[in-house]
Formats: sequence, structure tokens, C-alpha cells
Amino acid sequence: MIEPATELPFFYGSISRSEAEQHLKLAGMSDGLFLLRQCLRSLGGYVLSLVWNLEFYHYPVEKQLNGTYCISGGKPHCGPAELCEFYSKDADGLVCTLRKPCLRPADQAVKSGVFDSLRDNMLREYVRHTWNLEGEAMEQAIISQAPQLEKLIATTAHEKMPWYHGKISRTEGERRLYSASQPDGKFLVRERDESGTFALSVMYGKTAYHYRILHDKSGKYSMPEGTKFDTVWQLVEYLKMKPDGLVTLLREACVNQHSANHTPAVPLVRARGNGYTPPPEVPGACKTLTSLPAGRQTLPMDSDEFVSPYADPKELQEKTLFIKREKLMVDEVELGSGNFGSVKKGVYKMKSKHIDVAIKVLKSENEKAVRDEMMREADIMHQLDNPYIVRMIGLCQAEALMLVMEMAPAGPLNKFLSSKKDQVAVENVVELMHQVSLGMKYLEEKNFVHRDLAARNVLLVNQHYAKISDFGLSKALGADDNYYKARTLGKWPLKWYAPECINFHKFSSKGDVWSFGITMWEAFSYGGKPYKKMKGPEVISFLQAGNRMDRPASCPEPIYELMKDCWTYKYEERPSFVQVEERMRTYYYSTSKKVSTETKEDEEKPAD
Ligand code: AMP
Repeated sequence: MIEPATELPFFYGSISRSEAEQHLKLAGMSDGLFLLRQCLRSLGGYVLSLVWNLEFYHYPVEKQLNGTYCISGGKPHCGPAELCEFYSKDADGLVCTLRKPCLRPADQAVKSGVFDSLRDNMLREYVRHTWNLEGEAMEQAIISQAPQLEKLIATTAHEKMPWYHGKISRTEGERRLYSASQPDGKFLVRERDESGTFALSVMYGKTAYHYRILHDKSGKYSMPEGTKFDTVWQLVEYLKMKPDGLVTLLREACVNQHSANHTPAVPLVRARGNGYTPPPEVPGACKTLTSLPAGRQTLPMDSDEFVSPYADPKELQEKTLFIKREKLMVDEVELGSGNFGSVKKGVYKMKSKHIDVAIKVLKSENEKAVRDEMMREADIMHQLDNPYIVRMIGLCQAEALMLVMEMAPAGPLNKFLSSKKDQVAVENVVELMHQVSLGMKYLEEKNFVHRDLAARNVLLVNQHYAKISDFGLSKALGADDNYYKARTLGKWPLKWYAPECINFHKFSSKGDVWSFGITMWEAFSYGGKPYKKMKGPEVISFLQAGNRMDRPASCPEPIYELMKDCWTYKYEERPSFVQVEERMRTYYYSTSKKVSTETKEDEEKPAD
């Protein structure tokens, strides 16, 4: 997880108040000397420590649910850096302006706090339980959706915790606490009644104590007179460290045996995993995604296409390169076409589920070369498995040769964006292109070159989920090869090709990086045509003269900088996909809008 203050030279991380004062003393105690530290109590908050008249002043900086930061009673700011800059010009209620940063010594790293590792673990637990993801798929889910996941965790993660028992009565809570051993500090949290408020039940001296968790008008949770938190799970974590008025510290969770994987009261998505999807009654029946809570954006993990249909071991046992014709239903609906034939919609009957598929059907009159190309494409796709790449289900030899793939129903990116200009925000385009960079990073790591990366070959599962497709020109590089040398000229997409591809027919992941830059240009110009009406040879001289396409009107400046870096003439100096993905991610995380959560208008009531 990125910490927005990490880059600030006066940010110390999770140090205590006395440590902060020690640093300020060592730095001379001049008026306006200041440093920033992480708030030890609340997630995402800070404390600004300031010197005035040889005294210390500590101002808590709150992170609001809408993602802004502010000192109590002060103006909101979009980040800690912006907040400090503001107070360096205007005291606005502080004892003085921030005059001199107390710089962190070069040998002192930012100290990570208890919530930093907690947040990462929470994220993992949440993804594991909500989508039943493990391993690489879980890592991909976290990297690609961290900002959204953080938001979900902040508000709903308690529902996934083993100590959360949902809506049960106080008597039932007691029964559960007494039902096994009763060490001091054994606890559970339950929902109290229709008002949606919570209570904490904790064992001490073989007796159960019950505390009402207060929920104030600003949406904060606390013990009576205690420290306030944005979320129930933060409060629980805090009460494991400090009793805050309780008879004892919280220790062992009284595990909710009644909820196998702590499914929330309102299921966010359909459960995923072994045998998770019942086969539809009617072949090709549309998906029955459980509706998402209001305001919650669809995430890639909500789609069946996030993990391979063969991730289920029962299905994997049955996996073969060639699939049986009787298991495939081919619809007349055409999704698209090419010189090889057409792409049709269909349904593939697997052992425990039916899945929607796209089927590339080879025209029977096609010559051998086209058939060979399709076989080569199948051979490449067969070796790939990534959430951001269209997976192959199998080949089918029947009335025609058919390449059966995962379905990406929202179609090619360029068409989608040009038809939905007004509905797709720039942040959404950043999100999709970050996903493309994740898929390309995977290809680079596996030593595959795509050779035809373009917006037309990025297919959308939905508005928030992109997959790379069309591996017709792709090659697997040998273990010791850095590039593929094409012996013959083909029908090449020259406008997407790097200079070394055109001039020397050398294809490497660096060539794909150039194409990624063009694909970004297409995406941020909402389906625009690169190099306007220029012909291929004109483009080559345009580039050789040092020219590059202009920034599309709605393209953010940092993204355009990255685009231009992708168009570095010398491939040795061009970034790799590892670097491209990291830059896309940093930008995506920094802009990802924080959806504000409505505060509940709860009355404070006495403990039950
Ligand atoms: P291609 O020859 O692979 O570029 O496919 C031609 C067209 O068929 C694409 O532009 C898409 O509109 C459609 N298509 C190809 N593969 C898929 C897929 N997996 N899911 C949905 N549509 C697809």
C-alpha cells in the first residue's frame, strides 16, 4: 500500500509524541519548526508536531471518509503535502505558520506503523474471503484494485472477521462465549438490532461483559468516552492494544462457527471457488451476479472471467487442448470477423458449470497458412493464464476449426470508448490501461512478445475490466533470446510498431512497450486514430525527425510523460513493462476517486 506522505522529507512515519519532541529539540526548537508523523490511533491520519515559543503543539490531521485531510476545524486538503503547504502560508488557527521542516536524518527510514501491516493483511483476508482467491490471482486482484478494496475494507471488513457474529441477541452472544474455554479477553462483536449498531461482548473472570459500540453523527465508532475510529475493525484492533475503559484487553476471538467464511449480511458477490457456480438452467442463460451494494463499482474479481475456469481442480482434471464438439453450443450471433472467418458467441458445458465463450471459427475455404496461424495463436494462448489476458478454453475440430476463448462481452476498447465518451471518466481509462499494463507485465515476465498490442485488441469484460486479446502475431521467445527476428514481412500494424521492429524486424517486449504507448494514446483520445491520415512511411520519417503525437486533450500530464517514454527511439533506453506498470499503478492509485460513504444519523444510546 502506498503511504501518501512517504516522499515528504519531514515525515517520520509511526513515531510517538515523545520521539517527535526529541527530534524537534535536536533540530533547534526554532519557531515554526515542524514535522509530520503517522497517527497511531486512526487509519490514514497524521499528527503535525510544531514548535512555538519553545513549546510543542501537536495537531491531529484526520483522513475524512471522502479521502481529504484536515486539521479539526480547518479546510480540507487533498493530501498531506498539500495540507502542509497550505499551513506554511496561512496559520489558519495554528499557533504559527509552518516555517522550517524538521528533516528526517538520512539514516532514518520512515517508521512503519501497526496499521500498515494490518491493512495489508486485512486486504488479503478480505479478498480471500470475498472472492475466494488465492496465490497469484489474489495478488493481481490486490494490485489492480487496491484503492477500491481499501474503501471496501474501511467500511465493511468487520463482516469478514472471525470475531463478527452478525445479528444475534445478547443471550446468544453469551451462549457462544461460554460454549468453549473462557479465557480473559475472549470476545465477539454482534449487531444489536435493526438500527445497525454494534455491541462488544468480552469474557473476564468467567463472566461476560457487554459494551455498546457508540456510533456518532460523523460516523465514528468508539467505546463510551473512548478514542474514535472510522471503522469497527480499527476499534477492535485498538482495543487489543489498549483497554480504553474495558475490563480487559481484547485477546482471543470467539470464532463465529455459524458463518463458514464470514459471509457479510449483504453478499457483495456470488461466492467463488470449487463448485461455486451452479450450471444455468437454460444453456447460455445470462449471468446471475448477486447485485452489488449501491454505490459499489464492479470490480474485475466480480466477473467469472477473473480466474481461469480450470482453476477449479475438478475442471482441471478434464482439461484437454481439443474439446469435444458436443460440449460446445455455437450461437448464430457474430461478435466480429476477420480474414480467418468469424467470431461467434457460444456456451461451453464444463463439468460443473456452463460458461459463455467466444468462438473463432475458421472459414472452411481458408488456405493452410491461415489455419496454421490459428494453430499458432492457440499454442501461445494455451500457455498463458492471467486475469488481464483473454484465456483460451480449447480448440475444437468439427464442421470447422474453432478456437474457443473466454468471452469479453463489452468488445474492443477503441469502439467502447468512442461510443461512450461521455460516460467514461479519465480515471476509468487509467484503471483499464493499468490492467493492460498488468497483462503485458505478465507476458514480458513469461518471455512472450505480443506484436499486435492495440486498442482494437484490448477487449472489455465490462467498463472496469480489460483483457488483452489477439495472439495471432505473438511469439514465445527462447530462454536466451531477447527478441524475435521476423524473416518475412507480413501485414504489420506499422503505426503501432517501434522503429527497430520496422527497420530491423526485431521484436521484443520493448517493442510491445512502444505499442502500449500508442494504445494509451488511442485510449486517452477515446478511440482516436493514431497519426491521423499519415501513411506508414510518413510515420517513420515523422518519428525519425524526433516528432511524437501530441497529448490527447483529456490525457493527464503524467500519463502523457509515460506515453512519450514508451516512444523512446532507442529500445535499450525505453522502460520495461515492470516500470510501465509501476508508473501506471502509482498514477492510478493517486487519482482513484474516494467515494464518500454516507454517515449514519444514529443517535447515541446507552450500552445495552
Ligand atoms: P480478432 O480477429 O481476434 O481481432 O477478433 C475479431 C473480433 O471478434 C474482435 O474485434 C471482437 O469484436 C470479437 N472477439 C474476438 N475475441 C473475442 C472474445 N474473446 N470475446 C468477445 N469478442 C471477441
